[in-house]
Amino acid sequence: MTDTNHEVVCQLEDVAAYVDGELTGAALEDFEAHLRSCGACVDELRTQRQLLCTLDVAFNDSRSFELPREFSRVVTARAESDLSGVRRKRERGRALKLCAALALTSFALMGAAAQGVVIDPLRSVFRVTNILLDFAGRAALDLAETVTVFVRVFTRAVFFAPHGIGLLFLIALLFSTLLLPFLIARYHRAQTVE
Ligand SMILES: [Zn+2]
Repeated sequence: MTDTNHEVVCQLEDVAAYVDGELTGAALEDFEAHLRSCGACVDELRTQRQLLCTLDVAFNDSRSFELPREFSRVVTARAESDLSGVRRKRERGRALKLCAALALTSFALMGAAAQGVVIDPLRSVFRVTNILLDFAGRAALDLAETVTVFVRVFTRAVFFAPHGIGLLFLIALLFSTLLLPFLIARYHRAQTVE
């Protein structure tokens, strides 16, 4: 079945009007005749009816709000068809309602969780991360200075001194390396006292 065989070209607006019961007389007969020979319009009709059903459930029966089984399929179909072209006001209105329903649900869920569960821990995580980063930055700076001094002393000791003195330097170096943590700790303690 191709569109060229059709006397009436697909009028997707008629599908929405038909679902809303707005087609009458000759227009209604024409559309129903078209439906018998057009699978695309039948599919569109089914999709629109399912969407309408979903919206009815969301807005008229909110006490027992439950997503219909076909919900995600319908939403996906909507999203795909909406991408394929300009849609009618009527459908856009429905899409808006659907978005509003989803947004309300999300906000209801978020609202309950936000203050106590999400925002406060996020803030404290941010604060702790800040402190840790600051500390890591200063530690890295200290380490860089230490390594620089270490390398300078080490190379001088090994390459420019006679063997005996070189060995002495090495021992002194190892000793001061062991002392370094104490020195750094004392340096930090002195800083915090200031
Ligand atoms: Zn059609």
